[in-house]
Amino acid sequence: MPTQTDFSSLGLAAPLLSAIQEAGYTSPTPIQLQAIPQVLAGRDLLAAAQTGTGKTAAFTLPLLHLLSANPLHPHPPGRPRCLILTPTRELAAQVAESVKTYGKHLPLTSLVMFGGVNINPQISALKKRVDILVATPGRLLDHVQQRTVDLSGIEILVLDEADRMLDMGFIRDIRKILALLPKTRQNLLFSATFSTEIRALVASFLHNPATVEVAPPNAAAERVEQAVYQIAQKQKRELLAWLIKEQQWFQVLVFTRTKHGANKLAEYLTRHDIEAAAIHGNKSQAARTRALAKFKDGSLPVLVATDIAARGLDIEQLPQVVNFELPNVAEDYVHRIGRTGRAGMSGHAISLVDGEELNLLSAIERLMSKRIPRATATGFVPQVGADAAYDRDLAREAPPRRGRSQRPPARPNASTPHREGTTNATRRTQNAPRRPAPTAARAPGNKH
Ligand code: AMP
Repeated sequence: MPTQTDFSSLGLAAPLLSAIQEAGYTSPTPIQLQAIPQVLAGRDLLAAAQTGTGKTAAFTLPLLHLLSANPLHPHPPGRPRCLILTPTRELAAQVAESVKTYGKHLPLTSLVMFGGVNINPQISALKKRVDILVATPGRLLDHVQQRTVDLSGIEILVLDEADRMLDMGFIRDIRKILALLPKTRQNLLFSATFSTEIRALVASFLHNPATVEVAPPNAAAERVEQAVYQIAQKQKRELLAWLIKEQQWFQVLVFTRTKHGANKLAEYLTRHDIEAAAIHGNKSQAARTRALAKFKDGSLPVLVATDIAARGLDIEQLPQVVNFELPNVAEDYVHRIGRTGRAGMSGHAISLVDGEELNLLSAIERLMSKRIPRATATGFVPQVGADAAYDRDLAREAPPRRGRSQRPPARPNASTPHREGTTNATRRTQNAPRRPAPTAARAPGNKH
C-alpha cells in the first residue's frame, strides 16, 4: 500500500534524515514504515520482505539510530556492536554500502568482510574500532578462529535473506555464530520465504518478535511484464541474441542454471557482437566486481548470472530480465524477476522455455496464480548449422568428468550443465558436479 508519510515522523535522528534526503528518498516504503518504529523500540523483528522492497534501509536506518544514541566508551578495537550477516559477497558489499550511505553524518564505523579476497586487510581493519560489521558466515568464522574478531559485544544482530542462508547450507555456521554472541541483544531477521527450517530458526533465537510483512511472493511479480517463448534448448542462445539486437535491450540480466552454461552463453553472445560477461561462484571476486560495475554503469549490456551470484544484486531500474532456463524451484523465478520492476518501476522478464521445462513453468504459474503470456518472435528465423562451432566447442570443453562425489553426471551428454551451488538438500543429491572439486575445504559458490 503506497504511503505519503514522510521519514521525519518515524523518529529517526536528524543526521539520518539528512542522509535519506541526500539519497533522494521522499517517503518510506511499506517495510520501512512498519519495521523502523519496531526496531527503534528495541524489539526483535521478524520481517517477510524480499529484495526490492527497501528492506536494507528498513534495518540499517534504525540500527544506526540506536547505536549512535547509545555511544560506547571506551570502544575496544575489533569488537563490533552490530553484526549483519548476509548469504553472499555481493549482498554483503551492497549492505555495507547502504550502511555507509545512511550513516555518513554519524560518527560510526563499519567494516565488510567476505571470502574470496585477501583476509589481511580485514585483519588490519579489525585492529581499529568497528561499530557495524557486515559479513558472510564463512569468512566471519575464519576470523573467529584466528581470534581477530570479538563477537561478545554484539548488541544488534541482523540476519538478512535468512532463507537464502539456509538454502545455501549456512545453518551450522549460523548456529556457531549465534553461540558466540551475548545472550542479551536485539535480533532482526529478514526473509523472503518462511519454510519450516526458517520457522525453527526463528523460534530458537527471536524473542517475542514484532512481525512485519510486505510483498507476498507474487507481489513483485505483479509489476513485471512477463512473457514466455517456447523454444528448443539448442535454439535459445540464437533467439536471445536476436531479441537483444531486435529489441535493442541495453541492460539485460540473463539467468542460467549452471556456471558452465553462464560462461558458454556469455562467450556466444560476445562472438555475436553483443558484449556480455558471466558472474558466478567460480569467478574471482575482482572479476565479479568489475563485471557488475560495468553492467551498472551501462557499459556492459548483458550480464549472465547463476541464481546464487545474482542474489541480492542491487541494480536500480534494471529493465530486462531473461530466464535462459527456468529455475527448478518456482520461488526462485519470483526472486529472479524481482531484479526488475523494483521500487515501483515497471520491468520486463522473459523466459525461454524448452519442452522439458513445461512442468517447471506450470509450477511457477501455480505459485503466482497466473498464466504467463506466451510470446512469439515474429521474424526470428533460426540459422540451421550456424552454431556448429559453438557446439563443437561445448563438446570439446565438457567431456564427461567425475565430480567430488565420484558419481557419474546425471545426464552424461556433452552439454550436461554444471550446477552452481544448490538450494536445498534434495537438489544437492541430484547432479554430480562436472568439474573436479577444488582442493579448498569450502565448495565455491556455496560458501562465500
Ligand atoms: P532493497 O530492497 O533494500 O534492496 O532496496 C531496493 C532499492 O530501493 C534500493 O535501490 C534502494 O536504494 C531503494 N530504496 C530504499 N528505500 C527507498 C525509499 N524510501 N524510496 C525510494 N527508494 C528506496
